[in-house]
Amino acid sequence: MTTTKALVLFSGGQDSTVCLGWALDRFDRVETIGFDYGQRHRVELEARAEVLKRISGLKAVWRGRLADDHTVELPELGRISETSLTRDAEIIMTASGLPSTFVPGRNLIFLTYAAAVAYRRGITSLIGGMCETDYSGYPDCRNVALDSMEQALGLGMERVFKIETPMMFLSKAGTWKLAHQLGSHALVELIIEHTHTCYMGDRSKRFSWGYGCGDCPACDLRAKGYEEWRADAN
Ligand code: ZN
Repeated sequence: MTTTKALVLFSGGQDSTVCLGWALDRFDRVETIGFDYGQRHRVELEARAEVLKRISGLKAVWRGRLADDHTVELPELGRISETSLTRDAEIIMTASGLPSTFVPGRNLIFLTYAAAVAYRRGITSLIGGMCETDYSGYPDCRNVALDSMEQALGLGMERVFKIETPMMFLSKAGTWKLAHQLGSHALVELIIEHTHTCYMGDRSKRFSWGYGCGDCPACDLRAKGYEEWRADAN
């Protein structure tokens, strides 16, 4: 029997943690990849390590499936982001709800690196938490952009890749619901306690939905989604 394999783009945030659970349900062997581009908030990378340490113990079928973790250092990406910070604009939240330090096309860069790693490791399924429902401001999260990327990677590397995005059309409440379906209360608790989403890197305040500043667009989405899911579940 062939071993099915996947590579999950895993940042340590809520969406990519749900993706990881989704992949652990479906693939015999699941590897992860993360990008270190000098994030101002090292908490993201710490959250990654904590989730990786705990997730496979949450469900019997997940045990033994989680395999190698890859980290790719992309300091240039951080520099591009810093440039936008110091040159033209101060850090502001733009009308689309993105911080002005956001690097355009970031997911396309991540997917190219992920495909290069996957190619070498005989993996054709790339799994990511991109979602076009709540993040309309990120054009590289849209399904049409990722379909084109899948095609470009396939042509450029002469290998058929499949980019799977289980969260693409879910609302934030839907993401909490999926987490509960996949890993029950244990996965929801892991997300609350150990994942990180806040743009400010703030983990000093604990809310019902997890840690964060409570004010930035990322915290706002996470909180609203959680409350909506709780209201629906009751
Ligand atoms: Zn926040």
